[in-house]
Amino acid sequence: MTPALIQKTLERYEKQIVTAPVEHAIIITRTGEIYHCNGDLHGIPKRYFEKMQLESSHITHNHPPLALENEHTFSDDDFKLLTDFKLARLRGVDEKFIYELNRNAQDNALAKYNLTEIYSLGLDFEDYHYTIMLKALIEGVGYWRRER
Ligand SMILES: [Zn+2]
Repeated sequence: MTPALIQKTLERYEKQIVTAPVEHAIIITRTGEIYHCNGDLHGIPKRYFEKMQLESSHITHNHPPLALENEHTFSDDDFKLLTDFKLARLRGVDEKFIYELNRNAQDNALAKYNLTEIYSLGLDFEDYHYTIMLKALIEGVGYWRRER
């Protein structure tokens, strides 16, 4: 699969799952196979992923609007999915935002700052979006979020 086709495929599925009442994940493996799995309001059991070859795969998923833990960004478990399974990319969609973790460390709004500068930016780390941004920076992965 070409990068353009992977992108198109992810976006097509994201349109279908964004308003779903439970979590769905679409997985495109390194060899171009496409899988769909779903969980409940709070997530998808990790055992689904443990059976699969996920290294270098692209995954997208939704955060249902009624999930109280939806912080309009990735959860700690999402972040672990990217790092533990060595994904190429993890995307998330909810009713307001789309967000992505990827392997381009420069694709992070904080990448141009050093730690002292970041401290002086006065970011509100109560907002989990900034926590994930900082986590991504520390792990050397890209992270962005934009309104849908
Ligand atoms: Zn998630």
